[in-house]
Parts: sequence; structure tokens; C-alpha cells
Amino acid sequence: MSHRFNELCAWDRDHLLHPGTHIGAHARGELQTRVISGGKGVYITDKSGRTSLDAFAGLFCVNVGYGRQKIAEAIAKQANELPYYHAYDGHGTEAPITLSRMIIDRAPKGMSRVFFGLSGSDANETNIKLIWYYNNVLGRPEKKKIISRWRAYHGSTVMTGSLTGLELYHNAFDLPRTPILHTEAPYYFRRADATMSEEQFVQACVDKLEAMIVAEAPDTVAAFIGEPIQGAGGIIPPPTGYWAKVQSVLKKYDILLIADEVVSGFGRLGRMFGSDHYDIRPDLITISKGLTSAYAPLSGVIISDKVWQVLVKGSDQLGSIGHGWTCSAHPICAAAAIANLELIDEMDLITNARNIGAYLQSALTEALGDHGNVGEVRGDGLMAAVEFVEDRDNRILFDTSKKVGEQVAAALLERGVIGRALPQGDILGFAPPLCLTKHEADIIVESTVDAVNAVFATF
Ligand code: PLP
Repeated sequence: MSHRFNELCAWDRDHLLHPGTHIGAHARGELQTRVISGGKGVYITDKSGRTSLDAFAGLFCVNVGYGRQKIAEAIAKQANELPYYHAYDGHGTEAPITLSRMIIDRAPKGMSRVFFGLSGSDANETNIKLIWYYNNVLGRPEKKKIISRWRAYHGSTVMTGSLTGLELYHNAFDLPRTPILHTEAPYYFRRADATMSEEQFVQACVDKLEAMIVAEAPDTVAAFIGEPIQGAGGIIPPPTGYWAKVQSVLKKYDILLIADEVVSGFGRLGRMFGSDHYDIRPDLITISKGLTSAYAPLSGVIISDKVWQVLVKGSDQLGSIGHGWTCSAHPICAAAAIANLELIDEMDLITNARNIGAYLQSALTEALGDHGNVGEVRGDGLMAAVEFVEDRDNRILFDTSKKVGEQVAAALLERGVIGRALPQGDILGFAPPLCLTKHEADIIVESTVDAVNAVFATF
């Protein structure tokens, strides 16, 4: 290894607190730093010269793939012309204004305005504040609780970490905070009662949701938040009929719906939005990752006309809205997003996500569906998961201390492919860039089979 590489690793261990990392193991050097230095298409390269097929698109985000000159040039051009001006008090710059129009043109029906932030977490914070404001303006100050789901991932700030339904994000952080509640995840594979049909399970989830609303008192429940397909919690597509039934309960009690499309927005499911894909009619939509393919940090809340009308009424009563960030509607990030959305269209990536996604799902199912330690292969579009179990017939899970998912992900990396061991359960996730080819999908499947066989040969 070069002197420079060793120096970087030492500085990293000594000075950088990495997100989602065992910080003690990292600081002690037990977890080798991987310094990524380049990328092209679906491949990334590290400082030691090793190349990997990134079958998780970074963190479900580099949707157009690495090395897209068009986006790099748009960023450089904007930085040269005007790196920044704020968006407060009606100021604006050309790129975010153009981008808001492009987003509304692509959004599900009934959407009217976009507020820009910088991360999925801050966009969901915005959602919570807008919903509280909305109900205060409507004279319903008690209607403030937000129902999320176990296994949800909505961010890791104080309030969005509370919305998140994963233990790792709550433990020792004093989360979740009130007024956030969690209801059952639509996770049919892990249903408590194995004899339940999918239809009965959906009904049971919806009954639990309704019972929670009634127990809490409907006039205290403001909103329900859900990812159209659960992502970090296990890549869990909704069972048939789930969203239709959830929406009818929400409507009955006048509860707003937030669709968190941070992962599913802009094509990952083979449709522009997951809401259109699953027939969801949200009041607010969270967007981030696929908006810029993570070439620059940008997020947004897409606001329906219904909510917008109340916000307007609010500022007529209360004055300017007291919400925003210094870098809201940042022109460089917006320029990256415009180029990214144009590329998605020019390269027809949504059609590719649909076609190659279907191919990847069926190839993974064919290759691993009957394996004795594979409980389920599932997914939708270019999101796929393989869940490992100790005993397939009786759905017995592995002891978590064995870290089976992590072992398979490590074996896969040794074979040149990056999949992600999801944080709760032995679940290997895939969410490759939307430009994935059939040949690259074959590489993912062959390498995964090889890794799975190598790990389970040792059991
Ligand atoms: N919402 C969903 C569905 C996500 O998957 C994520 C991140 O993975 C977030 C919100 C939070 O986004 P960020 O990490 O940019 O704060």
C-alpha cells in the first residue's frame, strides 16, 4: 500500500466519525477503511485499485450510475455562474425554480408545490412541521400524532429517527419521542401466524392500524407515513391490497398520508413514483436520493394542493412561514438534479429499471428460491432481497449473533459485488443503478449464488 493510502487510513481512524458504523472497531483499526476513489457506470474503484460492481448504488441512490459527465458539467457551470443565493423572502435562482416545475410535471396527480432541503431526514422533518402547522391553522391543535411502521426508515434526526422503526436507530438515543407511534410492518413473510393467507394478513395489519387510531382518539392523529415499499427495513413490497385498505382507513378518520419516496422516487420501481406504481394518493411526498442520483445533496417535500391551500391560509393569518435552511433550494444541487432528471429520460432508465428489475427478480428466485437456507427472495423493480433462515420449512431465523447476512455480504464483496446486509435480520439487499444491464444482472446473481454456497458450506 502507498504511503498516501496508509496516511489516509490513519487520519480516518483518528478523526472521522462514520455514520452507521461500529465506531470502536473502526477507530481501533479492526474495520479496514475502504477509500473509494472513482466510479464508472455500475462499478466503483477504491484507492487500492480494487473494482466492485455496486449492486446497491451507494445507498440506493446513484440511480444514473457513476461518471455521468452531463451532471458533472451542470454542477461546474452553475458553480461558475452563481454558486449560491438564498431562497428566503421570495428570492430565487433559476435552477430550483426550473426544477420545481420539472418535479410537478412528473409527480402524481394533485401535487402543487415543492420545498427543497438537503437530506431525506430534513425533508421528513419538514413534513412533520408542515402537518403540525396545517392542523393548527385548521384549529385542531390536538391532531398531532404521527403513525409510522416498525421496520420503517425515515431518517435519523430526533423526530425522523423516531419515525424510523428500527431498533438500531432508537437504542440509547432516547427515541422514539412522542407523538410518534408505530404500527405493524406489512411483512407477510414474518407474520406471527403462519396459517394466515396474505389477504387475512393485510386485513389484520389494517385492523391493528384502525384499532390504534381509535385507541389514541382519531382527533389526535394527524398523519400516517410509509415508504411505498419498505427499504432499509428489509426491502418489503406491500402485499396485494395493503395500500388501498390503509388509505380507506386514513380517509375515514381524516388523517393525512405521507409517502416517503426517498428511495422509490424517480424510477426505481419502474415507474416515476412508487405512489403511481401502487395506486397511493398521498398528501405529501418525500424525495431525495434519486432526485440528483446523489451527485449533490438535495431533498424535497412535494406538497398537494389540499395541504398547500391551508399553508397559504396560515401565512395570511400568521405571516411568513418560519421554516427553512440556509441551503434550501441550493442552485448547484438543483442544477445537478435537472441534469439527472434529463438523463433519466434520455437513457430511458425507468423502462430499463422495469425490464432489468423483472429479470433480476426472476433470476435470483430461480437461482436461490429453493436453497435450504433461503426463506424468501422478494422485491419489486430494481429493489431485491434474499432473506436467510436456519430452517426454511418452519421459518426459523438464525441467531442474530451469527450475523449471517453480514457474512454473505462479505463473501459477495470478495467476489467483486456489493450487496447490503440490511440492519435488522439476515437480509441481503440489492438496489443497483437503474442503468444495470442484463449481463451485469447475471454477474450479481452468479456471484450471490457463489457467496451463499461458500458461507453455508461452513455451517
Ligand atoms: N427516507 C427513506 C425511505 C430512506 O431510505 C432514507 C435513507 O436511506 C431517508 C428517508 C433518510 O435520508 P437521508 O439519509 O438523506 O437523511
